[in-house]
Amino acid sequence: MFLDSEDVRGAFLRDEFFPLFQPQVDLKTGRLAGFEVLARWNHARLGVIAPDSFIPFVQRHGFINSLTQRLLSRIFAAVPLVPNPLRLSINISSIQLLDASFPARVAEAAERGSFPLDRLTIEITESALLDDLPLAQSVAKELKSLHCRLCLEDFGTHHSRFFHLRDIPFDELKVDRSFIEALTENPASRTIVAALVSLGASLNLVTVAEGIETEDQALIMIELGCNLAQGWLFGRPVEASDIPAIVSATGVISAQR
Ligand code: C2E
Repeated sequence: MFLDSEDVRGAFLRDEFFPLFQPQVDLKTGRLAGFEVLARWNHARLGVIAPDSFIPFVQRHGFINSLTQRLLSRIFAAVPLVPNPLRLSINISSIQLLDASFPARVAEAAERGSFPLDRLTIEITESALLDDLPLAQSVAKELKSLHCRLCLEDFGTHHSRFFHLRDIPFDELKVDRSFIEALTENPASRTIVAALVSLGASLNLVTVAEGIETEDQALIMIELGCNLAQGWLFGRPVEASDIPAIVSATGVISAQR
């Protein structure tokens, strides 16, 4: 796919980036716990593009902060549709965790959108931590001081370092879709997933399974004691306008902010 920096500039002018919301459920109760926000680009010529195809490009051309800011304002605009205590999770790119001004920008967007940051989870891939751990630690601490929760994703898929779990104040550990995919066919995958869930539990982290497509996978994750899950079994990513139907179908009772 050929994209150039003019495409990105045009995308901001035409407001082509938008968020989708994928339900996350509490495996113990089966109730809706919140949504993960996933970016999409509705490209004027190419149609809707998935993030794996455009995030690296947007990042390379220096627009990743603008993208996150634009998404945050659209996400926070959808907040009235996401009643308390439901949570929202967002993904950030590695370089944003190494940007000392990032927490202030999140705080500003949340204030503008009147969103309480104790309902926001920030998902961080492990690769972000490898470049400059002291800076990543300081940005992570600042996000925590704003009451955001931090989730480590992709753990165990690349060059994992256990000390990241010790040195960064994570609240959640995500079990990667690649492990879930092989869960029912490959006994080694089940053992690895069991070890990840147990590691998370012993570190007092909420464990989240992603990419659950079948009941068998969900049942195994319940058996292993995983806390939260998302995947096509529970719901595909949807537009903000579809959130109320999901919320009312799962009977979330709205509480005070
Ligand atoms: P991720 O955070 O691991 O997101 C999960 C991906 O799995 C999403 O792909 C989602 O649509 C897909 N998925 C969810 N349930 C299932 C399932 O049951 N089966 C299968 N096969 N797939 C499922 P998507 O939306 O294409 O996002 C890909 C990645 O792009 C995300 O991975 C995340 O790392 C990144 N990303 C998404 N939005 C943003 C963003 O706003 N900023 C940054 N920096 N990265 C983003």
